Amino acid sequence: MQYGLLGRKLSHSLSPQIHALLGTYPYALFEREEPALPAFFGDKQLAGFNVTIPYKTQAYAACDARSETATRIGAVNTVIRRPDGTLFGDNTDYFGFCQMADRCGVTFQGKKVLILGSGGASRMVQVVCKDRGAREIIVVSRSGKNDYGHLHLHRDADILVNATPVGMYPNNLEAPVDLQQFPNLCAVLDLIYNPLRTALLLQAEALKIPCCNGLRMLVAQALRSAELFTGHPIALTKIDEICQTIEATQRNVILIGMPGCGKSTVAKALAEQLHRRVLDTDTMIEDADGRTIPQIFEAQGEAFFRALETAACEEAGKQQSVIIATGGGAVLSERNRAALKQNGVVIYLKKELTALATDGRPLSKDIEALQSIYQTRKGIYETYADGIIPVDPDVFVTTERVISCICSL
Ligand code: NAP
Repeated sequence: MQYGLLGRKLSHSLSPQIHALLGTYPYALFEREEPALPAFFGDKQLAGFNVTIPYKTQAYAACDARSETATRIGAVNTVIRRPDGTLFGDNTDYFGFCQMADRCGVTFQGKKVLILGSGGASRMVQVVCKDRGAREIIVVSRSGKNDYGHLHLHRDADILVNATPVGMYPNNLEAPVDLQQFPNLCAVLDLIYNPLRTALLLQAEALKIPCCNGLRMLVAQALRSAELFTGHPIALTKIDEICQTIEATQRNVILIGMPGCGKSTVAKALAEQLHRRVLDTDTMIEDADGRTIPQIFEAQGEAFFRALETAACEEAGKQQSVIIATGGGAVLSERNRAALKQNGVVIYLKKELTALATDGRPLSKDIEALQSIYQTRKGIYETYADGIIPVDPDVFVTTERVISCICSL
């Protein structure tokens, strides 16, 4: 009996990993172009399958019968082959989105909800909002009367849901709207889960608005699909368990701190311990530019270097499951801070100024220079970091401290 996921481009899919944590059935990825769909739907070897962009409506049409939820939404994301060979379609995204909203403490009853995007996921969110008693549901689309030029008419929105791909990998750091336009917001739900924090969610966090990414929805819809595949109920506690496992494997560890505090050395040791790749933003700059950092400073000055550094932070921050060592001044820029935080936990390596290495570092020529740099950066390091670790002369002691800190976050 074979199960799996149907879609067009699936290389970044987390579904095989999630289904492996949910059951023991074989689960494969089926990348198909549209002309291949009839043969796929007719393949009797397939006992059941999930469907993702862009085939949820085609799968709906191919089913012989559908659940009431799938019928109301007009799309299916889960199909099972019944004993007589016919196809039954359901929409477990509905359950997934409800789980996500519940986790964020969102109640729709009596609320005005703004849903960005008018595609398949938006239709599912609209049905949930109706079922849960929302007072007003506005679908914001690039066309029609509720387009992005008329957002000022909806300043009173209580809940905002992003059901567009804006901000999704590889177009990280793009946000579909500026949340400051909506002073009444009590929740922001973003269906995207790569990156773990989209630019929209970073804005929500900065404004202290409760928010949630789409990972819980992805895991919860998979759990409900697995129940349909196997016919056995699965405890809902599995959702938290799997979300934690996936977040722990996907998230980056970002090391920040004064120049010469040991970020590159600790990053290498951490990478070895955690079996991860290291991205060192200074090395990325030197590799891309072909000159050393002192040469870049000498020839073109600090502003030029900082622009290269922002490009390196954006590239590194997009990746997942990596250790990122940053230059000491990388966190001075708000854009760099957002780029690095979108997929990771930030650890500040704190070391006595007199013990900092100064070789090959254009800005840390003497102790006075270091003290002056430290005064301007100290506050940013401390408020931006998720954890602060004192650097030990023994790199392995520091590494162990970092690992126990990230496990506790
Ligand atoms: P879809 O059917 O392609 O619809 C996306 C909608 O977003 C479009 O209909 C469009 O609406 C809008 N849109 C597309 N490109 C845009 C752009 N550049 N700027 C502004 N708006 C744009 O996709 P979907 O299946 O609804 O999925 C939407 C998002 O939800 C995706 O990011 C997907 O990954 C995510 N999702 C997550 C889960 C999960 O389990 N977490 C499940 C399903 C989907 P207008 O034409 O009306 O503007």
